Amino acid sequence: MTPRPPVEISPPDISAYQDGGTGVPWFIALDSGRQGPHVLLTALVHGNEPCGAIALDALMKARLRPAAGKVTLGFVNVAAYARFDPADPCRTRFLDQDMNRLWDSAVLEGKSRSRELDRARQIRPIVNEADMLLDLHSMQQDATSLILAGRHEKGLDLARRVGTPETVVRDDGHLTGRRLRDYGRFGDSEEDAAALLVECGQHWSVRAAETALETALAFLLRTGAIDRVPAGLRPLAEPRPQRVVDVTHTVTTATDRFTFAADFRGLEVMERAGAPIGRDGAHPILAPHDGCVIIMPCHNVRKGQTAVRLGRFVEADGVGDGAE
Ligand SMILES: [Zn+2]
Repeated sequence: MTPRPPVEISPPDISAYQDGGTGVPWFIALDSGRQGPHVLLTALVHGNEPCGAIALDALMKARLRPAAGKVTLGFVNVAAYARFDPADPCRTRFLDQDMNRLWDSAVLEGKSRSRELDRARQIRPIVNEADMLLDLHSMQQDATSLILAGRHEKGLDLARRVGTPETVVRDDGHLTGRRLRDYGRFGDSEEDAAALLVECGQHWSVRAAETALETALAFLLRTGAIDRVPAGLRPLAEPRPQRVVDVTHTVTTATDRFTFAADFRGLEVMERAGAPIGRDGAHPILAPHDGCVIIMPCHNVRKGQTAVRLGRFVEADGVGDGAE
């Protein structure tokens, strides 16, 4: 079992953003007054992932002003975040249920209640309106940051336009419920609205906070929402070539006893099909094909959760032959 990484960053005080002029608490409206898309940046869909909150706070402190269209900055699961405790940082991912597994119209319009569903219903009108979404997250492992672009070409196109992080994952999400990035028009190939989820690095690392801010700025600049990096913030580096991984399998646990065969951090490549990846109770999990890439291994998972995704690198500009 890997020890819990240290908490290097302090979660910012976001109380000043409660009334952001959108009518939805902790959602801030920035309107250029000019024509252009509505760009939405979200942080804290998971309450224990402060990197996105640090990035949005930095944008506000730098007096971000859109050059075209509208920008909305949203702090999502504020109730869980309010209970964030650096001494026990894993506990506040959510209060009642994972807020990134309920973005389905049937669920949102259903009768179930939870603090996360109540909040999702509250922010839904803004999400419905957004043309582009960047949802800022972080991960358990101290691993390379990733863009989760979904399965549609428009997600990959947006990831390429933004240009950073360098690793783009084409994936289907989770069996256990739909993510914000796959919701509504974002998940509909007939619609132009597109979304990216970025995993910025280990939850509580300085690097994750830096990546969140850099990605937010790249997203705003390269979608045309801003025309320059606000004064006082670090200019963007030139984008480097990206590589794309197609998810071919999502391993959802059938038991509470999932263990990995090695201390995987993510993006390791198992050269040969059949190489051991882990065990789900008595059931061995083996590499399903040659060149099998380990994506976001999640240690300490319970039954019914996503333990890891498996995929393969796509050749430059190819579409791969992954499981569509
Ligand atoms: Zn997350």
